[in-house]
Amino acid sequence: MSDCLFCKIANGEIPSKIVYEDDQLVAFEDVNPQAPFHVLIIPRRHISTLNDVEETDEALLGRMLTRAAQIAKDQGHAQDGYRTVFNCNRGAGQTVFHIHLHVLAGRNMTWPPG
Ligand code: AMP
Ligand code: ZN
Repeated sequence: MSDCLFCKIANGEIPSKIVYEDDQLVAFEDVNPQAPFHVLIIPRRHISTLNDVEETDEALLGRMLTRAAQIAKDQGHAQDGYRTVFNCNRGAGQTVFHIHLHVLAGRNMTWPPG
């Protein structure tokens, strides 16, 4: 999608602090971090919300979660713990309509989330 912020980050049109990328995914630092460690993992392909994923996207979603675990491990957060979050639609706090998996770590998290 030509006017999507995260598509522009994925194709390099808008700069970001990339921590990982491959042919399907890009992971970059959140510009407004909610924890000492906060990255977003996105698919290169535009998908607006979690409501729009299809059965054929199962491998892609699994890849996002597997990568989240690997990044957390690489950054030394596996033992103390980290949180992964998909916000789906405005009621859940989604503000950018290109799916992204938040990975937060480096502080104690509370439950329930706000
Ligand atoms: P959400 O509220 O779940 O849609 O999350 C969107 C996230 O994108 C927020 O945590 C924002 O801080 C983050 N964000 C917005 N613009 C940028 C940007 N240009 N680079 C990195 N992160 C961004
Ligand atoms: Zn997009």
